Amino acid sequence: MLILDGQEVGVAVRRNNRARRIALRIDPAKETPELVLPPRTSESEGLDFVRSRAGWLLDRLEALPPRVPFRDGEILPIFDEPYLIVHDAAARRGVWIEDRKIIVSGRVEHLPRRLNDWLRREAKAAISPRAHAKASVLEKRPTKITIRDQKSRWGSCSTSGNLSFNWRLILAPDTVLDYVVAHEVGHMAMPNHSPAFWKIVDRLSPHMRDGRAWLRKNGDRLFRYG
Ligand SMILES: [Zn+2]
Repeated sequence: MLILDGQEVGVAVRRNNRARRIALRIDPAKETPELVLPPRTSESEGLDFVRSRAGWLLDRLEALPPRVPFRDGEILPIFDEPYLIVHDAAARRGVWIEDRKIIVSGRVEHLPRRLNDWLRREAKAAISPRAHAKASVLEKRPTKITIRDQKSRWGSCSTSGNLSFNWRLILAPDTVLDYVVAHEVGHMAMPNHSPAFWKIVDRLSPHMRDGRAWLRKNGDRLFRYG
């Protein structure tokens, strides 16, 4: 814990033997900034570094969108449309949407997990058919499609054709999800970010430009849910 400008700020210190210099990172998925120390750098040197960047750090922390936990009364976007989370202990139907509400049944302490499981299933239902359709344009077939809780990325594509996607895409507009699917499917044909790759993505989704712009502007916010 450091006192910066009269405020208490927790900092997670991590050693990285491959790091070349001290780095200070703010991950929108976490509350605590991370200080990365290269070998032979003392912790006190690291903390001096944090102090020297106090103004920048406090500004960035303050600019983080508010955290929205999964609980009764919070608003959660689904495809960028707001829904009210409602806990209904007596209901016996799991999780469902009614009007502008997401109703979650069962015990209150299970609400976060139940809602998260449901969001993952919805994400998979939205992503899978689209990934298959886009891959077939390239005469490819995804080996496996997995929904994950990646901390800093929207999706990935392995050399063996396994595609994974962040469940948080279900919170973004449909057009943004479409672009991310096109991006990862595009990597099945081209494992880099060359101009030729972007041409493929453009072919697979009409939303490449607006999708990228939306994620740059709003992406951090999506990591604040749950
Ligand atoms: Zn990529």
